[in-house]
Amino acid sequence: MTATSIVESCPNCGTTLAVLGEAAPWCTACEWNLDAYTPPQKWPWYWRAMTRLDHRHGFRADLRLTTEGTGSSRAGFVFLCAVSAILVAVPLAALIGGLYLIIWHRHNLDILLGALLLPVAYALRPRLGRVRRYLRGRYRLDPETTPALHELIGQVAAATGAPRPDILIIDPYSWTASVTVLGIRGRRILTLGVPLLASLRIEEIVALLGHELGHIANKDSRRSLLARPARVTFGHLSSILRPPTANWLDQGMHGFEALLYELLRLINGTLSWLLFGLHLGINVVGSGHDRAAEQRADVLAAQAGGTAAALSLLDALAGLPLYHSLVSGASEAGVALHEWRTDIAGCRDRHTDQIVLRRQLSIREDASLFASHPTTGRRHQFLAARPPQDAAVTVTEAQTRSVLREIAPYAERLRADLAEEYEM
Ligand SMILES: [Zn+2]
Ligand SMILES: [Zn+2]
Repeated sequence: MTATSIVESCPNCGTTLAVLGEAAPWCTACEWNLDAYTPPQKWPWYWRAMTRLDHRHGFRADLRLTTEGTGSSRAGFVFLCAVSAILVAVPLAALIGGLYLIIWHRHNLDILLGALLLPVAYALRPRLGRVRRYLRGRYRLDPETTPALHELIGQVAAATGAPRPDILIIDPYSWTASVTVLGIRGRRILTLGVPLLASLRIEEIVALLGHELGHIANKDSRRSLLARPARVTFGHLSSILRPPTANWLDQGMHGFEALLYELLRLINGTLSWLLFGLHLGINVVGSGHDRAAEQRADVLAAQAGGTAAALSLLDALAGLPLYHSLVSGASEAGVALHEWRTDIAGCRDRHTDQIVLRRQLSIREDASLFASHPTTGRRHQFLAARPPQDAAVTVTEAQTRSVLREIAPYAERLRADLAEEYEM
């Protein structure tokens, strides 16, 4: 769309069509043309065709979830758990069988077979993640050093009926927040990203915490742990089997060696593709389940922070791309968080109309069968259609100042890094 384009009205309901940037116009009232997703021209044709198909079905799935609440089937989740159970049983059997054959072997062949089973067990081992590895580049916050933040989390936990997270982590670089379960002890980890916190008003931070702790209250993280082997193993196997890109000529091979090399490359390539296809299929089922879980967590976001704050949180999320350049290393040392918050608040006020349009446009642009979240626009529609709720947790001004003071040092770390990049 160019600046000279004529403003048209909706052929269905006569409402003036919304226009934002290059996007095809749509009707804000009846959603006419909102499903018209066009992939970028520069992409290859097959990728364009696939993303168009994915967007069309993702759009329908999101709409069904928002209007009927039927985003995921229980059968799909049971299927994922069954696949996971098999995937955990296979390496266990391979490990026991391998050790048995090596220790109580009758022939030398038994030892060979046992030795072959052990790498199979290792390749297929369940991956529970490690807290220490997750902490790289992030900071663990203790109640002693950040009492106000922990108190706020405690208030939100009480309001949502969730147990407190076991570990609170702050990520100076992340524009997101998440809850994840890691390690053999299954510890619940709440991670908050500094730029995201800088973008939100305090009541929206409460709604955000309500959403994240809502995942704990709804046992989503435990559930995702049950389905995790099914969702990651085939992808891992596919990448292990992916053949080298160099062909026999590049490798300088001849005759039989070259033939064998190419044959192995063909077999590995085919297996890798089949496993990747399986990986995609399983993740479509899993993502449907994830999106339904996000919607249930949004209900608790509204319960903790109130419907108004939960809705404006979604608007802030839709506006995030506008705030990226405002979180910069150019701000003065010692007051980065304060400066960013002031600049972003100003930007939000100036762009209210655009943010509403961005939120609506997300219904088109972000719809995907692989998306872990329903689009921001659909999440907004879902909450807005529910009976409004008052905030269960209200934060005093003094408490807000304390919370921000505890986050500020991590904003300074980000500022210092950005300033370094800026100078380079
Ligand atoms: Zn219309
Ligand atoms: Zn969530």
